[in-house]
Amino acid sequence: MSKKKEKKNWKTSTLSIHGYEKINKAYHSVSTPIVHTSNYYFDNCQQVWEFMKAKREGRVFREHEYGRYGNPTQRECERKLAAMEGAERAILFSTGMSAVILTIMAFMKPGGHIIFTNDCYRQTRDFATNFLGNFGIEITMVEPNAKAIEAAIKPNTNIIFTESPTNPYLRVVDLKSIVKVAKKHKIMTIIDATLATPYNIKPLEFGIDVVVHSATKYLGGHNDLLAGVTLGSNELLEPLNKLQRMIGAIPGPLTCFLLERGLKTFALRMEHHNRAGQAIAEMLEKHPKIERVWYPGLKSHPDYKTAKSQMKGFGSVITFLIKGDKKKTWKFIDSLELFLITPSLGGSESLVTQMSTMSFFDYPEEYRQSIGMVDNLVRIALGLEDIDDLIEDLKRALDKI
Ligand SMILES: *Cc1c(COP(=O)(O)O)cnc(C)c1O
Repeated sequence: MSKKKEKKNWKTSTLSIHGYEKINKAYHSVSTPIVHTSNYYFDNCQQVWEFMKAKREGRVFREHEYGRYGNPTQRECERKLAAMEGAERAILFSTGMSAVILTIMAFMKPGGHIIFTNDCYRQTRDFATNFLGNFGIEITMVEPNAKAIEAAIKPNTNIIFTESPTNPYLRVVDLKSIVKVAKKHKIMTIIDATLATPYNIKPLEFGIDVVVHSATKYLGGHNDLLAGVTLGSNELLEPLNKLQRMIGAIPGPLTCFLLERGLKTFALRMEHHNRAGQAIAEMLEKHPKIERVWYPGLKSHPDYKTAKSQMKGFGSVITFLIKGDKKKTWKFIDSLELFLITPSLGGSESLVTQMSTMSFFDYPEEYRQSIGMVDNLVRIALGLEDIDDLIEDLKRALDKI
């Protein structure tokens, strides 16, 4: 750690390519070789003995032992992700949701209480509301602000789990005030910062304890892999490390190769995503066929001030209401040429979804309405196409309704 502290003040783009330092690679290969193996052999019994002895003493004699514990491309991605986030440690998972769920499981306590902020990722919400009760964990869903969180704190509260920006309404939580409340009550804080990415905010710098990302999104960046990552201090993440080794919900060697490749262009891609998001949100807000737009970089967004004060940019997810009913909304979506109809975000291809059908179809109508999933609500996730081409495509599709 002291060594890392001495390192130059490298920026995200440099860190995503080299990590905190340049390291030697097998065969002097520039990219990290993919090691497709389930286990790693020892040369003789003496080596096994040395390995086990070192492990017991917390030393590293040799890194790899068995595939469920990790693989070389995974370690390389973890090293870079930790550097980008300013964390001591990153642990990669097979998906964003395995990172979210296992992180909660590593820290939850029987009889404990977890506060979640609402408008959170659908599967996180379902895990909280449908599963945590089975483990004897109480949960409360509150508005994404420090006041609501503090009001929900009980004597048994041990985790505050937030998300920022949220999805689809892109609510931004004020990290300073949440950390203040959490520290006052000695409660640990976990944030799913998938939509922000370490390019736009580094929650650990604000005092948040643990950060989770779906690396499927901006970090991977090409709509071609699934992965998740949890970041924090070595000490804090040790229980999660143990759980991870037991379960082995790790991304395979090839997935990690793709993720590492994606990380090399991460900062460049984020600059484009931020620029595209702002330009297109502003265009949509002025458009006569649009009723309302949610984007944290717009003055009209309820969390504009907070977002401006703590984030570098706001990414490329934009949510809006079409003026009209379901039929018009479908017509608009079906008229788009450059947007693929599918959930997810943060990749090279632009995507579009009508949230009420795509993500909340199986919820009862009344509940769906109560969480704001109305039929004319559209979410777009801009890709890396030319911004003017995207604007033209959106305008052309809006002209059709
Ligand atoms: C996509 C997403 C997840 C889940 O990630 P997967 O990689 O799809 O499992 C969790 N949280 C947020 C905010 C997401 O956008």
